[in-house]
Amino acid sequence: MPEHVLLKPKGSRVLLLGNEAIARGALEAGICVAAAYPGTPSTEILEVLSEVADSCGIYVEWSVNEKVAFETAYAAAITGVRSLTAMKHVGLNVASDILMSSAYSGVEEGFVVVSADDPSMHSSQNEQDNRWYGLIAHLPVIEPSNAREAYKLVKEAFELSTRYKVPVILRSTTRISHTRMPVELEGDVFFERKCKGVFKQDPERWILVPGHARKCKVRLMDAWRKIITNEGREPFIKIINPGQKKVIVASGLAYSYVREVLELLGALDKVTVLKVNMPVPLPREPVMEVLKYAEEVLVVEELDPIVEMQFKDIALSIGTSIRIRGKETIPENYELSLERIYKPVAEFLGVKAGNIEDAAGTVKIELQIPPRPPILCAGCPHRNTYYVIKVAANKAGLRNIVYTGDIGCYTLGYQKPFETQSTCFEMGGSIGIAHGLAKTIDNPIIAVIGDSTFFHAGMPPALNAVYNDSNIIILVLDNMTTAMTGHQPHPGTGKSATGKVAVRIMPEKVLESLGYEVYVVNPLKVRESIDAVTKAFWRYKQGVKIALVSRMACSLEVLRKARRSGVVLPVYAVLEDKCNGCMACVKLTACPALIVEPGAKKPRILGELCTGCGLCASLCPFKAIVIKNAPSENWERLWWEP
Ligand code: SF4
Ligand code: SF4
Repeated sequence: MPEHVLLKPKGSRVLLLGNEAIARGALEAGICVAAAYPGTPSTEILEVLSEVADSCGIYVEWSVNEKVAFETAYAAAITGVRSLTAMKHVGLNVASDILMSSAYSGVEEGFVVVSADDPSMHSSQNEQDNRWYGLIAHLPVIEPSNAREAYKLVKEAFELSTRYKVPVILRSTTRISHTRMPVELEGDVFFERKCKGVFKQDPERWILVPGHARKCKVRLMDAWRKIITNEGREPFIKIINPGQKKVIVASGLAYSYVREVLELLGALDKVTVLKVNMPVPLPREPVMEVLKYAEEVLVVEELDPIVEMQFKDIALSIGTSIRIRGKETIPENYELSLERIYKPVAEFLGVKAGNIEDAAGTVKIELQIPPRPPILCAGCPHRNTYYVIKVAANKAGLRNIVYTGDIGCYTLGYQKPFETQSTCFEMGGSIGIAHGLAKTIDNPIIAVIGDSTFFHAGMPPALNAVYNDSNIIILVLDNMTTAMTGHQPHPGTGKSATGKVAVRIMPEKVLESLGYEVYVVNPLKVRESIDAVTKAFWRYKQGVKIALVSRMACSLEVLRKARRSGVVLPVYAVLEDKCNGCMACVKLTACPALIVEPGAKKPRILGELCTGCGLCASLCPFKAIVIKNAPSENWERLWWEP
C-alpha cells in the first residue's frame, strides 16, 4: 500500500490540500486528540487524521456535533495534552457556548480550533466571518494566505496557545482548505507524543461560578493585551517594503490576491504592504510603524471589516487623520478574487489599469456546459421516501402539509416534484421549527431530518416537542451515513472514525424512548412503505405522536459496495411496446437516469446511471419498466445494511 501523504518523512515535498496541510502541521505540532463533526469545507482535516491515527498513536473521533467535538478536544488540552477540533463556520455557532467558557478557563497545552469559513456560500446557509468570534471571546485568530502557510501557521498557533494558555482559532476558508499546493515538510510525525495528561484540581479555574469567572476574565484580558503587544512579529504580521506613503493592509487569503495584483501593476516597490496573519487581535506595534509614513491606507480583507475596524481604532488613538479605506472600496459580500480587487487597488495606487485579462495574459474560456441545478442522484433513497410520503399523505387525507426541513442532501426535496421542504435554517432546526409552527398553525407538519443531523441536534427538540405536547410528525431519513459531507460514520452506523466496530444506536429506539409511536420503513419496497406510512398518518390524525424512520442506504454507497463486492444491481429499461408515453415516471421521480430525447414521445433509461432502486417501475401504471439484466440474488441487502 502506498505511504499516506500525511506520513511522508521530513524534507519531502508533497502536494497537499489545505486541509491536509493543516492536519500534517497539527501532527508535527504533537497533537494527541482530534475531534470534529463533518462540515464542508473542514471535513478532510479529521478524515485524513483518522486514516493515520493508529500509525501516529493519536485519538481521533467524529463527535455527534461541534459542541461535543470542541469539549472532547478541549478537555484533553486542560490536562496538558495538545489537541485540535475542526468545524465549518456555522459549526462554531453550535460550539460557541464552550468556546466562550474555554477562553475564560484557558488551557494547559496547545489547543487549536479550526474554523473553515465559506465565503460565497459554496455549501452553506450563510457566509459569516468567524474572525468575529475572536473579538467576542478575546481569543487570537490566525489566518493563513494559502495552504502552505496553513501548514506552518497551525504549528505557530499551537505554540501561541501554549505560550498564553488560551485556545487559538485558526481560520481557513473554502479557497484555502480545498486548494492543493506543494509543501516542504519541515518536521516529523513519528515521535514520542505526550498523550497522557494530568487533571489538576483548580476550582477557581475550572468551575466558572461568578466569583471564579470574574478572576478568569482578568487573566484572559491580561493574555489578550500581551498578545497585542508581544506578537507583532512574523509569522503573525509582517511589514513588506516599509517607509512608503501608500499602505495596503492585507489579511489572510487577501494577501495572495494583493501580491498578484501588485505584480501585474508593476507596483511592488511603490507601496508598503502590511501582511496580516493574525487579524485578531491586530498587533499594535506594526500598525504604528506603517502609520509613521502612511498618507493613505487601503485595507483588503474578505467579508467583514475586522482588520479595518481595529486598524482605524489604533490610528484614531494616535490622532492621525489620514484616509483609511476598506469596505467602501473592497466588496463586502462573497469571496474576493484577483478580478474583484484589481481595479480598487489600481485606483488606490493611482495607476492606470486596463483589463485584468489583458494584464494577467489570461484567456477567457466560454464554458460550454449548460447550467444545471443540483438534483438528487439517480437512485437516491430520499426520492423513494418523498414519493412514499406524498402518496401516503394523499391516501390518509393529509392536506396542506408544511414540511420543515434540515441540512443535508435531502434539502433538495424543496424542488418539484416533491416540494417536501418548506423551511431549512440550521442543523436540527426541522423539529424545533415544526414544534413552534404547531403552536400557531393548524396544518399538518412533518419535520424532515437526516440520520446524522438527528444525532447532531435533533434529539433535544424531539424531546421538547413531546414534553410540550406538539402534534407533529418526525421523519428521519436514515441513509446510514453522513452523506452530504462524504460519507462519514455516525452513531447509527456502528463504525468509529477509524473504522473500528462501535455501538450502533438506532434512531427508532431513541424516538420510542422519547414517547413516539415509530414506524420503520424501507422505501426500496415502495408499496409496503406506502401502506405503513398511510397507517402512521391515520394514527397521527387520531392524535398519536408519530415518528417515521425511512431506512435505505445512500445510492453512492450502494454503488461503491456493489463494485467492491461484485454484487450486480438491477438495471431497469422501458419497454417501448408497453409504454404509452404518459411520462408519469419522469414527472413523479425526476430521476436523472430517466431521459426523454428531443422529439421522443417515450422516455428512456440511461443504464449507466440507473442504480436499480425500482421507484419508476413501481409507479408505472402500465408495468412498462422492467429489469433488463440478471442481478445478483442478494443485491437488496446493499440498500439495507450500513
Ligand atoms: S410511466 Fe410507464 S407508461 Fe408512463 S411514460 Fe413511464 S414507462 Fe411509459
Ligand atoms: S430504477 Fe428508475 S428511478 Fe431508480 S435509478 Fe433506475 S431509472 Fe432512476
